[in-house]
Amino acid sequence: MKIINTHAHVIETGKAFAQEGNDYLKYIRGITAFEQADKVLDMLSAENLLRQMDEAGIEQSVVFAMYAPLLFASNEFVAELCQKYHGRFTGFASVDIKAPDAAGMLEHAVKNLGLKGLKLHPPLQNFFPNDRKLWPLYQKAHDLNIPVVFHVGTTPFGSLVKLSQANPILIDDVANDFPGLKIILTHLGTLWHNESFMVVEKHPNLYIDTAAYPYEISDLLTLNLVKRVGEDKFIFGTDFPMPYEGKMHRLADFTEIFGRLQIPDYLKEKIFSGNFLKMMHG
Ligand SMILES: [Zn+2]
Repeated sequence: MKIINTHAHVIETGKAFAQEGNDYLKYIRGITAFEQADKVLDMLSAENLLRQMDEAGIEQSVVFAMYAPLLFASNEFVAELCQKYHGRFTGFASVDIKAPDAAGMLEHAVKNLGLKGLKLHPPLQNFFPNDRKLWPLYQKAHDLNIPVVFHVGTTPFGSLVKLSQANPILIDDVANDFPGLKIILTHLGTLWHNESFMVVEKHPNLYIDTAAYPYEISDLLTLNLVKRVGEDKFIFGTDFPMPYEGKMHRLADFTEIFGRLQIPDYLKEKIFSGNFLKMMHG
């Protein structure tokens, strides 16, 4: 089975953690999941991601640029990795949400750098996704025919973020106004599961990635739920390199969990890569 991990982070650690006046590591060290913060930092390289992909039988990963604290990676950095490891990575762009021409920044990333989607993290980038100021950016993504990935649900970043900006219901407003825009919600909703599934079920162009804790994947991805929300709506992702269940991230944990799910093989194939490829090329 062809497997694509549609949710992975590569981080420019020097820039992500060394921004003047910001001690972002304190947010990481204050969180139980990141007790081994130094080990996490060692894991962030693209080479480590590739090694884990090989171990798990994952052909390709979507790696996200991010103009935000902690997960910072520039569009240029991601584009370079995609070139260097040709065929193994697909890059999704980010934009500086406060920039006067965020839409132009996206267009440059897609047309000149070859990035294939837009990743937005409303709480880490400190905005409400249904703020009408964002409409020109969404219109640009629509016109470029690229998907927009929204982080939804809780985050491990403590008082750095507001959960109100991560409410999946806010995405309903975006989808109502941009019915042709492809949108991917994340993490099976991260404890906002049902609200996320509601929004994804409602809109034909909405999808959700499975970058959740392994136990949530087993509990939530039942045949009934997949059929109700839509067989084409779920796409495989892991949120590499985020820790979970007190452990370091291991891609093979996720492929193994899918192996044990009580859903037919044709659905596993759709979730592992079929749905994503159809969405990207549709
Ligand atoms: Zn993520």
